Amino acid sequence: MLSAVPRPVIVRAPSKVNLHLAVGDLRDDGYHELTSVYQALSLHDDVEVRDSDELSVAVQGESARVVPTDRRNLVWQAAELLAERAGRDPRVAISIAKGIPVAGGMAGGSADAAAALVALDELWQLGLDRADLDEFAARLGSDVPFSLRGGTAIGTGRGEKLLPVLSRNSFHWVLALAKGGLRTPDVFRELDRLRSEGEPPRLGAADELMHALAVGDPHQLAPLLGNDLQPAALSLKPELRRTLRAGTAAGALAGIVSGSGPTCAFLCADADAAVAVGAELAGAGVCRTVRTAHGPVPGARVIDDKTER
Ligand code: ATP
Repeated sequence: MLSAVPRPVIVRAPSKVNLHLAVGDLRDDGYHELTSVYQALSLHDDVEVRDSDELSVAVQGESARVVPTDRRNLVWQAAELLAERAGRDPRVAISIAKGIPVAGGMAGGSADAAAALVALDELWQLGLDRADLDEFAARLGSDVPFSLRGGTAIGTGRGEKLLPVLSRNSFHWVLALAKGGLRTPDVFRELDRLRSEGEPPRLGAADELMHALAVGDPHQLAPLLGNDLQPAALSLKPELRRTLRAGTAAGALAGIVSGSGPTCAFLCADADAAVAVGAELAGAGVCRTVRTAHGPVPGARVIDDKTER
């Protein structure tokens, strides 16, 4: 007789780029007040969950060997949270296929956490609603609610209080992946140090940028991209200045450090321009590898198989 073991579930979750990342002063709780306009990009991770005798995590793909496979992995924590809610043991094998650079400022760990929540909700047939998933996501990390939702959104607080942003058209990006990562807390600490010594520029409001998104014009959007963490990331990895210069010299409309870096994201006029900029950057020797991507794309969602686009 056939056993009633449920089929594995695969969930795809997007990476993100911060189009606007304004960092306020350090709060008493150790976090900074943020205003972040996120866009979900097609560069993604796939997370597969299947019934098993015990909880396990396996990782393949982009820099897989530096990703922890124990309780430190956010998918492990997601499984424990949902199992507790469901009143069951987290006996599940979780397999992550990473396309998102690790410690790259593109929310790879958050994407996996969001994917694990959606996948386990489906595998265990929990029937969680959007509000439940959002609450678990916020407990796992500030970027996890956005990875769940996708699209284009503005986040405040630590980035976790989200509102959707109207965005017309697809935008085309080239991503320059760096050798090695940057730890997000180190980048915030470096920003605090730079601010104690002088006044690195601070971003203003995001109104004009939101207007450019609504119009859907990359030429209008390009000069409005901004990231308060960029001076800190450049201070910790000065070689990123060359990467940023090379991208605009290759024809990108603008280049920024993505989140806490070190990935650099280049906005291009269209898909063909992105391919051309990517090819030139790859040949310039200013980064480890290059990817093209488009956004906005949806948040974490069940897919039938990994060949789905
Ligand atoms: P963010 O943009 O949200 O600041 P990031 O993209 O810079 O994050 P991540 O790839 O999320 O960084 O990884 C940061 C650290 O989190 C890694 O160095 C790793 O030790 C840990 N980590 C935990 N779970 C995962 C996961 N599933 N994938 C990648 N890293 C993970």
